[in-house]
Amino acid sequence: MHGESVHILYGHIVIYDAGLGSSAHVKEVISEGRWNWPQNSSELIEIQHRVQDIRISPSSDCIFWDSSSQVFSTHKAWNGIRLPSSEVPWYNLVWHSLRIPKHDFCLWLALRGAHKTRDKLRAHGVLHSAACIFNCGEEETLDHLFFRCPYTNSVWMAVLAMRNIARPILPWMDEIDRMIHHSLGRKFLAFVRKLALASTVYNLWIESDRSCFQNLFLPELEVVKKNRQEVACRILSSHNVQYSERHHNLCTNWGVS
Ligand SMILES: [Zn+2]
Repeated sequence: MHGESVHILYGHIVIYDAGLGSSAHVKEVISEGRWNWPQNSSELIEIQHRVQDIRISPSSDCIFWDSSSQVFSTHKAWNGIRLPSSEVPWYNLVWHSLRIPKHDFCLWLALRGAHKTRDKLRAHGVLHSAACIFNCGEEETLDHLFFRCPYTNSVWMAVLAMRNIARPILPWMDEIDRMIHHSLGRKFLAFVRKLALASTVYNLWIESDRSCFQNLFLPELEVVKKNRQEVACRILSSHNVQYSERHHNLCTNWGVS
């Protein structure tokens, strides 16, 4: 009543007292255009009294949000019930129209520092050693995995080379800062950069899993090849990415043409 549930206000007993079934509709307590709640308990008499000023409309039921002129949508409902967090500077790297969900979920975990790297597992007592799973002899931390480790470093170097970039690899969050500033907008180049980063993070995490559970991992060039295929496939499947002759070299590197 006025936004409150009869069940929440009065409990299950009123439904029982009214002789209504569990799937009863509102129309069952309306008769000849008037509210007609059974009057066989004090709660039902009170309900009948409280609903008198609720106008009964002859029009069909509809679902709305906030007021009858506002069409309901899950988008409005979600924004109505959630507490928004502050915006993170890297959101555009993860949430964009060409994202590959499994890649971006993995990237999101990495940006949140949420991957269970071996240093964390050791701290929780799950492992005795945090030695890098790619056998470099160093400790596996998030920074090491992305991309200080010689194995992951060479994969990311090769991916940067496919973007025609040759430079030393920076620490993880510095790489991300750089990506944020160089991946703005919805241009072809920005999409390639974002897809390449997410694909690399995902495929390296898969290799660390493979190494953990199967004691083997793919050679660097095979990982780069997988990245290339996945990025090319995503770009080619989109009708919204425009590329031109000036991107010829980049398209060739990534197998997009
Ligand atoms: Zn390593």
